[in-house]
Amino acid sequence: MRETGFRSHIPEPTIRIFTDFDGTMTREDVGRELFRHFCGSTVFNHIRSRWVDGAMTAPEAYDALCRSIPVLRETDLRDFLLPYEIDPSFPRFAEWCAERNYPLLILSDGADQYIDILLNKAGLSMPHLSNRMHLTPTSPDMEYPHFDPRCPSIANCKSNHVALRAQDDDLIVYIGDGASDFEAAQYADMVFARGALEQYCQEQNITFRRFYHFTTVREVLSLMISQNTLRRRKRAELRRRGLWSGG
Ligand SMILES: [Mg+2]
Repeated sequence: MRETGFRSHIPEPTIRIFTDFDGTMTREDVGRELFRHFCGSTVFNHIRSRWVDGAMTAPEAYDALCRSIPVLRETDLRDFLLPYEIDPSFPRFAEWCAERNYPLLILSDGADQYIDILLNKAGLSMPHLSNRMHLTPTSPDMEYPHFDPRCPSIANCKSNHVALRAQDDDLIVYIGDGASDFEAAQYADMVFARGALEQYCQEQNITFRRFYHFTTVREVLSLMISQNTLRRRKRAELRRRGLWSGG
């Protein structure tokens, strides 16, 4: 009954999908557990509370965490990561995005070292923007190529990535679970949330859908696209434009 023949002549907007990694593509926050494991709970909790209180920026906190690890070898890292895996429903989701030409990009405030190992374990090769960790003969070093002092509580400013890539006609989908996703979610037309992000969206009046795994995301998006209910959110669109025009 739907006017599919008619609609096929209308150019389809690009649906750009951004996803967080820790706690979103994985069940646990792998980065947090990694630092807790290698720094020890006491040091980790102390630095983390100063970070959460705003006494340290995210890069300062990561640097302090790294300095408290005497040495981190690749074998230590691989052994630590053995129990962790990417959500088994994610590869099918990534495939679905690729089939439909929806650009899918991972934005993480974690580190490339463990993300790469876990992606590899899941047989995935896909782009991600994150902080960089360098393993050295002593303490690991971190690099923050995407830090923006405008967002000091995160080392990788995710909202910049969203705004930089979003074209005027795009529909932006964001999937996440935590504090590092708060600002970026404000730039999205459709948010899939769980955990702290879910509460944040409620408080900020950002429409969202709760998700448990990526099958939910795929099914909900498919339905919205077929029913033409995936729409641009005015407030998000203004933010995307405003970020760059504001200088
Ligand atoms: Mg997360």
